[in-house]
Amino acid sequence: MCASKRTLFAVVSFFLIHFFCIQTIAQQQKYGLVIHGGAGTILKKNMSPEKEAAYTEKLKEALTTGYKILDSGGTSLDAVNAVINIMEDSPLFNAGKGAVLTEKGEAELDASIMEGKTLAAGAVAGVKHIKNPINLARLVMEKSPHVMMIGDGAEEFAKQNNYELVDNKYFITEERRQQYLKIKEAQDQKHGTVGCVALDKTGNLAAGTSTGGMMMKKFGRVGDAPIIGAGTYANNNTCAVSATGHGEYFIRLGVARDISSLMEYKNYSLRQAADEVINVKLTKLGGTGGVIAIDKNGNVTMPFNTEGMYRGYYINGGEPVVKIYKD
Ligand code: ASP
Repeated sequence: MCASKRTLFAVVSFFLIHFFCIQTIAQQQKYGLVIHGGAGTILKKNMSPEKEAAYTEKLKEALTTGYKILDSGGTSLDAVNAVINIMEDSPLFNAGKGAVLTEKGEAELDASIMEGKTLAAGAVAGVKHIKNPINLARLVMEKSPHVMMIGDGAEEFAKQNNYELVDNKYFITEERRQQYLKIKEAQDQKHGTVGCVALDKTGNLAAGTSTGGMMMKKFGRVGDAPIIGAGTYANNNTCAVSATGHGEYFIRLGVARDISSLMEYKNYSLRQAADEVINVKLTKLGGTGGVIAIDKNGNVTMPFNTEGMYRGYYINGGEPVVKIYKD
């Protein structure tokens, strides 16, 4: 080979290697998030166009907020936290403001958050004056030696840390009160929780869930949302999961951890694992609901066995996607 050919060969090789390296890095650097705003009897025929637009808009706002955090190099934990705050503050969802009511007509809130890198986790249950329960769950994770705190103790911990406390009336919207009065007569049950799972640019996963629980729940009832392994789970080796649905079944099956375990022990893909747990195990046991999940490679799944689930995802290289009903 003459010198000029050699130079040309070297230059072309350099660019090809460079190109493939960049491609590979770009492929590795998947990041994004998945959200839910509760599963249940959500049918198009029962939804007004205004209501549908309001949900779609709020879910998009939540997705975009979380995505911006991840896109600018923020952590998955911060994205999950910020996204859940938006949904907690919105009266549309059963979390924070607009939470469903207990048999006694009060709001009693549960939340949890988990980080996939360290398996650090925090949870609160049965709190009645915490404006954003997911923030208190994070405080438990970061500022206490514990994983879970409940009721008065959790609120005492919040006060000690100068956390914002609100009157229980803050959570109770007129719509929920009417629903409560109607359901009190019919003894029906209603679902609707919020959750977010995210993968950041450094490959860290995080998951969070926040809820008012089930409408008409009895004193002291705690659902799956604040139970690590049932309603929330994140592990960098597998996936991050947040659940919504009839909590008692999710606790009995350890749904979120079971999905992660199927991937860890049986080499299932994210989709296979989530399908097995929701569409086979949960359904067989008679439970209703769904999960959102993202794996360490940025794959996403959102299975549910109810009529609908408020849900969406936003992964780099794509657009925000919001869905409500069955496909
Ligand atoms: N899973 C929640 C609970 O059982 C309720 C829901 O997701 O709607 O407390």
